[in-house]
Amino acid sequence: MRPPTARTAVTKQDIVEFAKAQGLDLVGVANIERFAGAPPRMHPADILPEARSVIVVARRIIRGNWRGIEEGTHWPNYTYFGYHGLLNSFFIPVGVYETACLIEDAGFEAVPYYPGVPEGQPPDPPLRPGAVAANVHLAIRIAGVAAGIGEMGWSKVFLTREFGPRVRLAAIITDMELEPDPLIEPGTLCDRCMVCVAGCQAAAIPHTREDKTVSVRIEDKTYEWGDVDMGRCTLGFHGGDPRVSPFLHKTLPGYEFDVTRQRVTEDAAYKLCWPLSHGTWRRTAEDPSGCLVEGHHQIIHWGGGAGAVSYAVEGSRGCMRSCFDRLERKGRTGQAFKGGRFIKRKRWLLPPRCGASCQEANGVDDCPGE
Ligand code: SF4
Repeated sequence: MRPPTARTAVTKQDIVEFAKAQGLDLVGVANIERFAGAPPRMHPADILPEARSVIVVARRIIRGNWRGIEEGTHWPNYTYFGYHGLLNSFFIPVGVYETACLIEDAGFEAVPYYPGVPEGQPPDPPLRPGAVAANVHLAIRIAGVAAGIGEMGWSKVFLTREFGPRVRLAAIITDMELEPDPLIEPGTLCDRCMVCVAGCQAAAIPHTREDKTVSVRIEDKTYEWGDVDMGRCTLGFHGGDPRVSPFLHKTLPGYEFDVTRQRVTEDAAYKLCWPLSHGTWRRTAEDPSGCLVEGHHQIIHWGGGAGAVSYAVEGSRGCMRSCFDRLERKGRTGQAFKGGRFIKRKRWLLPPRCGASCQEANGVDDCPGE
């Protein structure tokens, strides 16, 4: 635990060691100059105008969190341990908060930053003349790149040397001057293998041949990744895709919905998925559960924890599971597993038509061994 002393001098090394002792796996530092190209409402100095450094931390998502979804047998673990249940809402914030306390004990202000998203809070008018519009949020993955702990994968997922895409991020903005860590050379971790594209049943990740990219420049380096269709991604991940939700099949027999043909915004996709998964309905003979989709409701109920309400149904089939399965097989992650690769069997994928027989769901091999 943090020593109960005030005004204790701390070094960068002290902060890194302390943060890791709190369970945070990766810690990197960006100086504020690396955010020179950040858009308005996404700059750390719009939260702390005196900011000199941004400490970005990552904690691993353990591989076993996904096992139940990969096997098609158990869903709540991933939401509970690896997503909004405990990882985002407890495991990471405790370490971030304790580390921020350490920095403030040394006499510097430390803003513990929870990674929200700007699109979740539209801008409100500035509260002072000339000020930035309210509701500022960092692009936490780009902050992670600026702090040298990883790079953007083609799938827009953040990749690290140790765990590949199996991490979640948070940050501390401080007026303490800290030595920045070296940036990772673009293309070091992601080799554009397109395994994530093949594994994404929602067809949300473009292929490189489609030439749909987004890029940012930090110092002399340009980081580029695929311009992911966030509408399809959200439909797939949050329970709008019958191909990856047996709960939709059970609740809505005969319903047919092909996510790969949708052209909707991320916000519109949330409007479809959220009420469908959170909603209740009168108990009827046809469905006595009292929920719109009982299985999704249970994932939220069991997995939310700590008041968190976000949930995962699809479990990042391509962008995370396919990606780390391959990176681990290639020896391109620091962490290795004695039991071999993650994807051990042909993968399940349901037909888009709810109510179709389970036999119509073929085992697919969209992440083959090489
Ligand atoms: S699977 Fe991972 S390494 Fe391969 S292109 Fe996608 S993000 Fe890059």
